[in-house]
Amino acid sequence: EMLGEMQQGIVVTRHVKHADVETQEGDIFRCNIRRTLKNVVVGDRVSWRKGSEQLQGISGVIEAVFPRKNELTRPDYYDGIKIMASNIDQIIIVSAVVPTLSLNIIDRYLVICETANIPALIVLNKIDLLDETERKAVQEQLKIYENIGYETLCLSADTGENMHALHQYLAKGTSIFVGQSGVGKSSLINQLLPEVNALTGSVSDNSGLGQHTTTASRLYHLPQGGQLIDSPGIREFGLWHLEPEQITLGYREFQSILGTCKFRDCKHKTDPGCELRQAVENGQISAIRFENYHRLIESLSETKSQRHFRK
Ligand code: GDP
Repeated sequence: EMLGEMQQGIVVTRHVKHADVETQEGDIFRCNIRRTLKNVVVGDRVSWRKGSEQLQGISGVIEAVFPRKNELTRPDYYDGIKIMASNIDQIIIVSAVVPTLSLNIIDRYLVICETANIPALIVLNKIDLLDETERKAVQEQLKIYENIGYETLCLSADTGENMHALHQYLAKGTSIFVGQSGVGKSSLINQLLPEVNALTGSVSDNSGLGQHTTTASRLYHLPQGGQLIDSPGIREFGLWHLEPEQITLGYREFQSILGTCKFRDCKHKTDPGCELRQAVENGQISAIRFENYHRLIESLSETKSQRHFRK
């Protein structure tokens, strides 16, 4: 078959055997993938070539993948590790302020963001359910994160309060939403992409393929600017087993202190000469973060024997 000249594009959906590639002009072409390319994922910048005709809905072939800025990976039972998406500019950690705000869960997600080297935005949803006093208390808790350089945002998907601020963050690049079930991720995404039901991923494009439904990860262009990569699997991203080394690396404010403890194998518990504990006592490190750190480490020894992988 005759192939056209090499073009650049971005993978907006990865199917089992094919990938949908979007051109700079916004046209989408379903492509085969050269067998030598092992992983092609949503978010990838690729080189591809158009075929002389469309065969069974396939318009071209992906020839190469450009180096990735970063990757979202998850443990995989068969492959050891699976890449879910690439070139993410920001992970939006969604939590809800009711029934209660769980800093422990936020810390857990931050560990993943830090070790994947992807900036995080902490979003607290359902702020409409709090009165002034409760809001002040939440703002106070958020200072823990602001003090160590994380961006935070309180909003309501229901009333639309502060949604304009979220739009501004999203406009900066490509984002994903993560968070526990019930915090309001679907509500937020439905607000951002009103004409698309993001969960069922009904795709309408101009490649002549018509509508099709998938649970595959997909890249969406947001009307207010920016891109969103989404799928049910991506929303659950990060809720798996962590390694102890990963947890230690995932606390950004610990990093400059860790190496200064008296003992190299300091567990930062009751060990003498622990500089991390000292920093907590000095108020330099948040006691809540330090507590959550130990909670995360301890939860490992409990789950070690029942380690599981998510599909
Ligand atoms: P997801 O599981 O994270 O996708 O959460 P959903 O978007 O399905 O939301 C879970 C529940 O919280 C639903 O009943 C929503 O109506 C509700 N909810 C979502 N956002 C808000 C909000 O800003 N305020 C209030 N009061 N309820 C919300």
